[in-house]
Amino acid sequence: MDYKDLANLIFPDAKDISYYEEKYPKRNLPEGAMVVRVAPSPTGNVHIGTIDQALLNKKLAKQTGGVFFVRVEDTDQKREVENGIKQIIDSLKKFDLEPDEGMITETESKGNYGPYRQSLRKEIYEAYAKYMLAQGKAYPSFETQEELNELRAKQEAAKVRTGYYGIWATCRNLSVDEAVEKIKAGEDYIIRFKSPGREDRKIKHKDVIKGNVEFPENDQDIIIIKSDGLPTYHFAHAVDDHLMGTTHVLRGDEWLSSVPLHLQLFQELGFKPPKYAHTPTLLKNDNGGKRKISKRKDPEAAASYYEEAGIPSASVKEYLLNIANSTFENWRRANPDKSIDEFDFQLNKMSVSGALFDMVKLLDVSKNVISRYSAERVYDEASKWASEYDEELAEILKDKEYALQVFGIERGNAKPRKDLAKWSDVKDTISYMYNDKFDKNAEFEYGKISDKEEITKITKLYIEKYFNINDDKETWFNKIKNLAEELGYAREVKIYKAEPEKWPGHVGDISTVLRVTLTGRQNTPDLYEIMQVLGEDTIKDRLS
Ligand code: GLU
Repeated sequence: MDYKDLANLIFPDAKDISYYEEKYPKRNLPEGAMVVRVAPSPTGNVHIGTIDQALLNKKLAKQTGGVFFVRVEDTDQKREVENGIKQIIDSLKKFDLEPDEGMITETESKGNYGPYRQSLRKEIYEAYAKYMLAQGKAYPSFETQEELNELRAKQEAAKVRTGYYGIWATCRNLSVDEAVEKIKAGEDYIIRFKSPGREDRKIKHKDVIKGNVEFPENDQDIIIIKSDGLPTYHFAHAVDDHLMGTTHVLRGDEWLSSVPLHLQLFQELGFKPPKYAHTPTLLKNDNGGKRKISKRKDPEAAASYYEEAGIPSASVKEYLLNIANSTFENWRRANPDKSIDEFDFQLNKMSVSGALFDMVKLLDVSKNVISRYSAERVYDEASKWASEYDEELAEILKDKEYALQVFGIERGNAKPRKDLAKWSDVKDTISYMYNDKFDKNAEFEYGKISDKEEITKITKLYIEKYFNINDDKETWFNKIKNLAEELGYAREVKIYKAEPEKWPGHVGDISTVLRVTLTGRQNTPDLYEIMQVLGEDTIKDRLS
């Protein structure tokens, strides 16, 4: 009996790997084209990190004329949740990050390199495991869980590294005949990789993001096929990324220390390894320190959070590019109107350590993103959000023509309004533009002029003598100056500032009175434009 017999005994039906090597030929792509993927596990609640990876990968594929695909890594079936795959597909769609290839439903995929769901690729892994067994590069291992626990306890007591390696890797030294005998006797087993590595030797590796790294060689005989017949991540990713033609593996930097093992697997399988790019972990400020953003503690770690909060996916993507490449901010400043598709993302310019993910900054970026939207787009996205999450807002927005005027205030010019960061802000931000949402009798917070009689005097005189809805902006403002003057206030801030003791206030204080009476707020977009939209009747009603 030799290795081949053992391989045939374990996987009698597995095909020769040449079948798959032919079925999945090398991709015919231009020089430099990157084939990249995200490989999430369907464990529920898609992480914002997956969206981040998808965004960067999709950009790289687009920039180089390559391919971006999604592979579902569902080999850990204990952790899998119902609808997990659907959640992945849906959230990529929500962020407009659909892949060129990958799963389109739980069972179907598009693309010629599928299936793109690992549990549907079992026979492929078996073929490659068989291939390894037949060369003596893998072997069956028969320990029970108890025996493995004992092994670990022994190693801990002896203060040596734990794991299955070297002298501790008992089944590594079984002869083929011994192994065959055990299998025939019905003993349970898993398949392990026979590592050629030595812990006292070093490997050097150049990561696309982290640069040069050095590690001890791997010497662990890790499991490649588990007792449920499915592969481990390590083995599956090597087989998949080989067959799918992945050129660059972007993945979280928690995988960096697995590089020695992974390179060894590629080597022993006879595959050319991909380039690895380990992306910095998304971090969050917490109590003066920084920690990994976590699905358990941080609502913003879930990709679904943004939609619910009404934060446009465009804003999230813009922010993620901001933290991915520090050059993005300048690029945006120089190109305020360009699509992020035109930004040239560079993998090797990513930060080596963690990337701070800050919701305050994200919302700030979002204000800028929304400020560049047309009134029509604001209307469309806000209404879409409202129809799902805020009935009252949906009702408010029913009068589209009026809503477009409201959203059009200070929009489309060089310095557009920046008061919206998310659709859930809209209702509160625009409520005063609607008579049934505006309580004209409420106690408003006025500015410097807060005396009721004085306020009444100002609004009354304004209505009686100065207000005319048909005035252009200049005339309108001149009239407010005249109003200020007539009431004994400085008609210009400049004049006031020269001799402040001489005046009770200036034209700005007068317009604040008008602003607060008309809107209930001291800070609003341009008052002239607001008044134009509110219309004569509402203005007269509110001011009197
Ligand atoms: N399923 C792995 C994870 O979720 C994928 C890592 C990779 O991209 O290779 O971490």
